[in-house]
Amino acid sequence: MPSVFTKIINGEIPSYKIAEDDNFFAFLDINPNAIGHTLCVPKKEVDKIFDLDATTYAGLMEFSRKVALALEKAVKCKRVGIAVVGLEVPHVHIHLIPLNKMSEITFQHKVQLSREEFEQIAESIRKEL
Ligand code: AMP
Repeated sequence: MPSVFTKIINGEIPSYKIAEDDNFFAFLDINPNAIGHTLCVPKKEVDKIFDLDATTYAGLMEFSRKVALALEKAVKCKRVGIAVVGLEVPHVHIHLIPLNKMSEITFQHKVQLSREEFEQIAESIRKEL
């Protein structure tokens, strides 16, 4: 069965899309640790990041770097943190989290946003790409 992220990539589930190319897709995390929390996903559905082939792994890092630079311009933060977990969704994804305090990288710090706020944030990040 396709992962929830494959369904997002295929447009079967809605998302607040940030960026896409032939191999990768970025969208806002629906349960963010901080405003602007973004996920970068390879279209190829692989569970664990270190099982990716070397080309996809390097491509995911470069795609994530571009998204992170836009995120840093769009969202006020001290820096963009990066995390890889995968305990909830078994489809490789890099969490990009704008950080102002250590608790925001812990996944216990969550912010509630309205649909309008998600849309505004996504638009402001896209403008910086
Ligand atoms: P993990 O697999 O532990 O790295 O966590 C998966 C992340 O995906 C969590 O931060 C979820 O909030 C996020 N997530 C799950 N479903 C969706 C969705 N439909 N749209 C956006 N983010 C999602």
